[in-house]
Amino acid sequence: MIDTYKHKGMRKALVKEVEAKGITDKAVLEAIGKIPRHQFLDSSFDRFAYKDVAFPIGAGQTISQPYTVAFQSQLLEIKKGDKVLEIGTGSGYQACVLAELGAKVYSIERQRKLFDKTKVFLSKLGYRLNLFYGDGYKGLPTYGPFDRIIVTAGAPEVPKDLLLQLKIGGWMVIPIGDQQKEQIMTKIQRMSELDYAQQTYGNFSFVPMLKNKAFDQ
Ligand code: SAH
Repeated sequence: MIDTYKHKGMRKALVKEVEAKGITDKAVLEAIGKIPRHQFLDSSFDRFAYKDVAFPIGAGQTISQPYTVAFQSQLLEIKKGDKVLEIGTGSGYQACVLAELGAKVYSIERQRKLFDKTKVFLSKLGYRLNLFYGDGYKGLPTYGPFDRIIVTAGAPEVPKDLLLQLKIGGWMVIPIGDQQKEQIMTKIQRMSELDYAQQTYGNFSFVPMLKNKAFDQ
């Protein structure tokens, strides 16, 4: 897969843009500077790959806007070796950012075609991630508990199963709200067996986290 000087130059400019919008976490900026985002899109869309926008990746889904990926990644405050669960693998871009931050990544995708395509692509790219086809509302009970959970689709409410799969002291970053409009970026920290604390971080717009649908749709 090709990564030209032009791509590298555009990638540097993207890092500057995301930094100018308020991302300060150096490790997150480095990850964005390293990952060849253009390879996550069809090659005919090369010129859009380093713009700070979300982009369609087929099957009605999108690769999140780089700023949004950076924002969620920064809120996660990942330490090397953290076990991180992602809901909504999509293109795999966010999962690669998590891997670059040193996370042991577990990621779930509910669209079979996207799952198959991304699995092949990520292994070609050289990332060793734990990818699962399934329903993100259920999480991965047999692999938890997790230090961090990141949801990359707009959730109508916080999935209960995911709360239970958080380590005590760990947290989840999830956009919550009306699936047709904007969602509020929310950090939910597990304080003890039964107590959780919540903080909000402004409005974002995600594709919906889908519930109770046959997986192949
Ligand atoms: N993290 C992705 C962004 C994906 S967009 C990236 O970096 O490209 C959101 C993804 O969540 C879509 O691929 C969608 O199919 C998936 N999704 C929606 N509802 C889901 C659910 N209940 N379980 C797992 N994945 C889901």
